[in-house]
Amino acid sequence: MAGSLERLKERTTLIWNLRGCGSLLGWDQLVKMPPGGAEARAGQKAALSRVAHEALISPDFLRDLEAAEQEVAELPADSDDACLVRASRRAYDRSARVPGRLVAELASTTARAYEAWVEARHRSDFPFFLPHFKKVLALSREVVEHRGYPEHPYDAFLDDYEPGIRASQVRTLFGGLKPGLVELARKVRESGPELSHNPLDQSFPVDLQRQFAARLARSVGYDFTRGRMDVSEHPFCSASSSRDVRITTRYSEDNMVSALFGAIHESGHAVYEQGSPSGFDGTPLKGGCSLGFHESQSRLWENYVGRSRAYWKFHYPALVALFPIQLQGYSLDDFYRAINQVRPTLIRVEADEVTYSLHVMLRFEIEYHMVDGTLAPEDVPHEWNQRMEEYLGVRPPDDAQGCLQDVHWSEALIGYFPTYCLGTMLAAQIWETVREGIPGVDEQLSRGDTSVLLGWLQDRIYRHASKFLPDELVERCTGKPLHYRAFLTYLEDKYGDLYGLGRQRVAHV
Ligand code: ZN
Repeated sequence: MAGSLERLKERTTLIWNLRGCGSLLGWDQLVKMPPGGAEARAGQKAALSRVAHEALISPDFLRDLEAAEQEVAELPADSDDACLVRASRRAYDRSARVPGRLVAELASTTARAYEAWVEARHRSDFPFFLPHFKKVLALSREVVEHRGYPEHPYDAFLDDYEPGIRASQVRTLFGGLKPGLVELARKVRESGPELSHNPLDQSFPVDLQRQFAARLARSVGYDFTRGRMDVSEHPFCSASSSRDVRITTRYSEDNMVSALFGAIHESGHAVYEQGSPSGFDGTPLKGGCSLGFHESQSRLWENYVGRSRAYWKFHYPALVALFPIQLQGYSLDDFYRAINQVRPTLIRVEADEVTYSLHVMLRFEIEYHMVDGTLAPEDVPHEWNQRMEEYLGVRPPDDAQGCLQDVHWSEALIGYFPTYCLGTMLAAQIWETVREGIPGVDEQLSRGDTSVLLGWLQDRIYRHASKFLPDELVERCTGKPLHYRAFLTYLEDKYGDLYGLGRQRVAHV
């Protein structure tokens, strides 16, 4: 049997290096490629993923995988080799169970559905998108029937992004969190008028914003010798290896908040990837272990660090020095209030910390019921608008600002949304653990020192990369299973203070 593990590693190295090439091509497409290159690029990406897919589902791969499973059977379950074999098994099972013709049909259907969605959103015309949406949904359902699932078909959708978690767990977590969030959002809404003079409602030259965004990226530990920051329409982070982790942001003169917090957010994703051991590059163990874990890191840096008073105690004077005219007369406290404003919005990506998760829950509930057939796709706009009113107290005037706002469904990314909220909850739980482990963290942040925090995260999370499933890593890192209470407590404390809601907490149902 000896040698099968080495052969398996050779095979996975080929596949995961090809995937790395695919991610570089994807980065190039969104950042550098001239528009004329789109068609050829689609062919190049499809060719790469086809070669990688065929290598993964080949009988040779399966033979070496089965032999390697025997070979590592006696190793500790958390050894690198055992984890690599387990990750290879998961990748094989996910791909091999779905017929190639179905994968191809879904790819061409989503390509057309995406075009239809762009047009439908532009015209705010849900019926125009509906036939495409139904087809994407039907094919996706077919895919998960091939894959199989433990309890509910939604489990298989989730498994693509948050391996191992079940829909029933998500329902329990969201069900626990929702009443407290709805109540908090309502109290904030009713607490009186918002800031009359917002220091951020001004014009800030883009080249200076860019300079400051780079400073903030560095401040959270983003290593520019193994990364670069560019501009794209939607900010993202792309890691072809731990030594080449690129981020993007976007700039607009009258929206500095989006550039600065976008830069911190993407840097949070990036430091996680840069912290993955270089020995895992080109293997299934490379990089973050799930979308939820990834989002926990982007949000921890963006919200728990980047929207804290302590962090800006250090950085605000430099911001004032860069924009002396715009920020003249505004104190650190004014700025702190401005970057932590809560107001219900129709658009998820513009939402604040309090209301964001409600946008996600609404999408999860709709997806869950569409997937098991208890909600017809034609009823989505009605369900959407009802829930917006119930959870956030606002009703979309049209579907462009309602159920057509996100690209995900056109691309068959069903099961993706919950990871945003799971990551947000996890960030709170990790932050609670950080505060116990590093009592001086606020004082360090107020001196511009993030090294202790970064070292803690590196040791507890980043160095494990994708070795463990998310629920195992949550336990290793925080000593508890994922729960929602830390998040609710954090929000109630912070926004209770900011909005003078008194100390009494919303009952934890
Ligand atoms: Zn993110």
